[in-house]
Amino acid sequence: MPYQGGSRLPFERASKLGHLQVIKSDLVNQLINCFEDPEPACVKSSAAWEEVPLGGDPLRLIFAVDGSNQTVRSEFKPYKEVSFVKTALLRLDQHAIAKLDPEAPHPMAMRDIMADSAMYHSTVFPLKGVSIQGKNNYDAVRQIVYDSLRDHSLGEEPYKTLKWLAYQKWTSKRQKSLGFQCPHCGNELDGLPFDTDEGPCPVCKGHLFLTDMIGFHLEMAEDSVPESVSNAYMLVYETLLLFTGIRHFWERKKYNTLKKSLFLKDGPLTLRSQYSKLVIPIRAFLEYTKRQGVPIHIAGQEKTGSFVDHLEIINKEVPEGSIFIPNDKYIRREIQHRPDRSEPYGSRTNYGNKVFVKSGNQHYVVLSIPTGDYKDSNSIDDFIGAREIIATLPKIISHRHECALVPIELANGVASLSSYPSAAILKLFADI
Ligand SMILES: [Zn+2]
Repeated sequence: MPYQGGSRLPFERASKLGHLQVIKSDLVNQLINCFEDPEPACVKSSAAWEEVPLGGDPLRLIFAVDGSNQTVRSEFKPYKEVSFVKTALLRLDQHAIAKLDPEAPHPMAMRDIMADSAMYHSTVFPLKGVSIQGKNNYDAVRQIVYDSLRDHSLGEEPYKTLKWLAYQKWTSKRQKSLGFQCPHCGNELDGLPFDTDEGPCPVCKGHLFLTDMIGFHLEMAEDSVPESVSNAYMLVYETLLLFTGIRHFWERKKYNTLKKSLFLKDGPLTLRSQYSKLVIPIRAFLEYTKRQGVPIHIAGQEKTGSFVDHLEIINKEVPEGSIFIPNDKYIRREIQHRPDRSEPYGSRTNYGNKVFVKSGNQHYVVLSIPTGDYKDSNSIDDFIGAREIIATLPKIISHRHECALVPIELANGVASLSSYPSAAILKLFADI
């Protein structure tokens, strides 16, 4: 095995493709040379970096959410499979942040934060070989989603947030929920009446939950549930946890608290496929608050994926303290390498646009920050509270991991299934 590379010396090279007989073509040769070159692909980027915007005060109260999910399979045939999901919300104030040593946070200090200021929610979905008496897995999962979102240990707060979004309760209109497809007859329904939790389908009279509106049933067959359902549940729940804090302050008119709070999410601010319908009320709410003059500071941090890979390549020559906002054209051409489409990137599935921030030579992050209604913009002033969010970054940078933020690291610690409870214990339960 070749020696692994350090930071100064190149790793030992062995030609991986040299022995292959391939077609003699200039294009193919170029491709092979490029693959074998230890330097990253030379990307000519047209990124227009600018200096970090000034004028924002660091935010003093930070909420971070994260989640994890794990599928456990029994060891003997017939195999049984269940999927565990855990999500966590963590609060950090300026005092707690100041107490943490960014180089080596003391485990006791972290334990105190987690004990006093963190909460978590977990649930489990049947995937294969397990069933609940009298119900097929399709209906069992619908019921589990409904019951889990109404988790009494959390006072049903995330569920109230779902209702608040579904019925757009910040407006004074008593409107129906978003429309959805009936899980029984498949007809497109135009939503449940204002503020209802359950009710009959007007076409087939089948029983509906408000949580059916989210659309988990569209991924399932009658007796098999794909793992993607548990992943989607985790993402939806993370989003609801994030907005539970926002709703809490908004309903109590604590606008000054909102003005100094940062809501951080691990991963981009996105909900894929059918789940993206929740993006509609989220964008509407953020646009509303922007117009009311109460900026809600939300940021998602991406840790993997094409945007992170791209930033890693293009940030090398860029001075510290720079930002770049890739617009739709840049994303299509230079990151996704796809032809232009009529629908701008992320306009339906995301509730934030990308902002690249280089705080230090070893520290650069891909953030998603909301704009309210979709706007293809290069201007930082179109991003809600971006000056304050960017001014907060130096206070929460982790020196333990590259490009990491302390609140997300801590939330990850709470949400991590492998650490609490141990995966071995989960397996023990799963085999019953
Ligand atoms: Zn129906």
